[in-house]
Amino acid sequence: MSLRRKFAPRRKYCRFCENSEIPLNYKHPEVLNDFVTDRGKIIASRITGTCAKHQRALTREIKRARQMALIFYTATHSTDVLKKSRV
Ligand SMILES: [Zn+2]
Repeated sequence: MSLRRKFAPRRKYCRFCENSEIPLNYKHPEVLNDFVTDRGKIIASRITGTCAKHQRALTREIKRARQMALIFYTATHSTDVLKKSRV
């Protein structure tokens, strides 16, 4: 169940170029959360398909969101992930 993939393997495109309505800032962690793993790592643009320009903005906003404690720094902050990673 936990192995469910976040991204379907299909044509990649920059989500933010495609749809300019998507808010790209720290006030919308629900958007940023799609671009970090469940361990809190930023997903590489070659995987998400985000263009360089938006990936830079994304990185900046994710770091900002972390400072505001809106998203996790590491898995240790989430008991859910801790349980899953205990083998
Ligand atoms: Zn873009």
